[in-house]
Amino acid sequence: MDKILQKSFDINQIRNDFPILSKSVNNKPLIYFDNAATTQKPKHVIDAVSRFYESENSNVHRGVHDLSQKATAIFEESREKIRAFLNAKESSEIIYVRGTTEAINLVARSYGGQFLNEGDEIILSAMEHHSNIVPWQQIAEEKRLILRIIPINDEGELLLDEFEKLISIRTKLISIVHVSNSLGTVNPVKHIIDKAHECEIPVLIDGAQSTPHMAVDVQALDCDFYTVSGHKLFGPTGIGILYGKKQLLEKMPPYQGGGDMIRSVTFEKTTYNVLPNKFEAGTPNIAGVVGLGAAIDYINSIGLNLITEYEQDLFKYASEVLGNLEGLKIIGKAANKTAVISFLCGDIHPHDIGTILDHDGIAIRAGHHCTQPLMQRLGLTATARISLAFYNTKNEIDSFAETIPKLFKIFS
Ligand code: PLP
Repeated sequence: MDKILQKSFDINQIRNDFPILSKSVNNKPLIYFDNAATTQKPKHVIDAVSRFYESENSNVHRGVHDLSQKATAIFEESREKIRAFLNAKESSEIIYVRGTTEAINLVARSYGGQFLNEGDEIILSAMEHHSNIVPWQQIAEEKRLILRIIPINDEGELLLDEFEKLISIRTKLISIVHVSNSLGTVNPVKHIIDKAHECEIPVLIDGAQSTPHMAVDVQALDCDFYTVSGHKLFGPTGIGILYGKKQLLEKMPPYQGGGDMIRSVTFEKTTYNVLPNKFEAGTPNIAGVVGLGAAIDYINSIGLNLITEYEQDLFKYASEVLGNLEGLKIIGKAANKTAVISFLCGDIHPHDIGTILDHDGIAIRAGHHCTQPLMQRLGLTATARISLAFYNTKNEIDSFAETIPKLFKIFS
């Protein structure tokens, strides 16, 4: 894989690294504010994926020939990069999955299927993405488990006193989002994990929206499971990570059966492979893994600390600018947030806001953001949302702000 040179935080250089950012949409320069849905890809990632298909493509793990060995080496190098990125103890704790959705389904099916029993309780929160609700509902229905929900205040913060009241001897698992995709709230997951561990309750953290914006250290957090979505981390779609503590993953049964996850198969009995292969049945998304490894190289070349610093400054600016726009109401005002701003403009439907902004080349998201229970809690059906990344700029925020009065005019 190509080495990339260490950069300082040079926003022009960074923007040049992302070919799509120089595109026009509706004859206007693209302003991409939909990073919570998926992020754009730097050339470094695009090149790594095309190079893989052009000169390294082969299946992994099963081949004796040169290409297969090379593909396997890159595939496992990426695992090591991800291990280091999350500061996991061992690379066997890094399981390749399709994304956060599959990671949570894996834990719900495997851990839930094996270790949860009728009457056991799982704690979630009111701000979860559907992918951290539905898999638990499915297993709960099958095994007669009970879901308990941590409520939030009007700012969009978890009520920690209420959380502690929900913990009981029946609580067998807690699954919480690190950063809310709808509100940007950064949850105090370390506090939650520590409280849970006092009662020996394992904790899964949905890291889909945290890993692109802040350094995550799974050993320091001491979480039992952590999820990553590659496509939100400037990598390809269809690849993600489930981190799990080795002692838990070892006890869990496989999630899917097939090639690569076995040690031996007869018609009478199958024995399973060791970690991580036990959870990686079938041909994986090899190019996706290569791209994700390249994305991590790219992020490391800038430095997550610089990325966080830049984004926090941008977020502060955006909050001030949007806060001063007449008629625009920000939804979610937690004290600790990443650069996600949900908003409403009077009674203009968020889809209309999205459509009008698109005419000006500005890509935002409108809808329930896969958090319908959160919307119900807030008394809303939808919001408009901008979500920033480290390639966005204050100028782009100014351009966005200029379109809002136009929007009110159109709908007045
Ligand atoms: N959790 C959160 C907080 C998300 O924002 C998302 C995607 O938007 C997901 C889970 C699902 O992630 P994926 O699309 O990688 O399965």
